[in-house]
Amino acid sequence: MAGEPQADCLFCKIVKGEIPSTVVHETDTTLAFRDISPKAPTHVLVIPKVHYPDAASLAAAEPAVAGDVLRAAGEVAAQEGVVGSGYRLVFNTGAGAGQTVFHAHAHVLGGRGLEWPPG
Ligand code: 5GP
Ligand code: ZN
Repeated sequence: MAGEPQADCLFCKIVKGEIPSTVVHETDTTLAFRDISPKAPTHVLVIPKVHYPDAASLAAAEPAVAGDVLRAAGEVAAQEGVVGSGYRLVFNTGAGAGQTVFHAHAHVLGGRGLEWPPG
């Protein structure tokens, strides 16, 4: 069924606690944890607890949960103290854009200068 946990999905395993992570924020529908290979002083991943392969398919199927991810990302940015300096939300979508984990996630990046346009 759409949204069900996938046995071979890294982030579903993190949601279930089968793989440890440094959780910084949690709601009924979302989990946020530090990226294992941070690309900025603040680099947190915000994921829906339900499994969809990318942000667009999550939004199409469960728009309220997609909204929850955005709200959680804003709360993480506030917690991390990067709202004033600015931060970036990134949803890499597709292998060609650098997506490596096919469970929807927002990168919250901040705490350093952020070039525009991104690479
Ligand atoms: P993507 O490349 O799909 O947009 O982002 C996946 C992110 O997941 C990468 O930034 C990568 O460093 C992070 N990542 C991969 N494996 C793990 C893990 O086991 N734990 C955590 N916390 N992050 C991970
Ligand atoms: Zn998953």
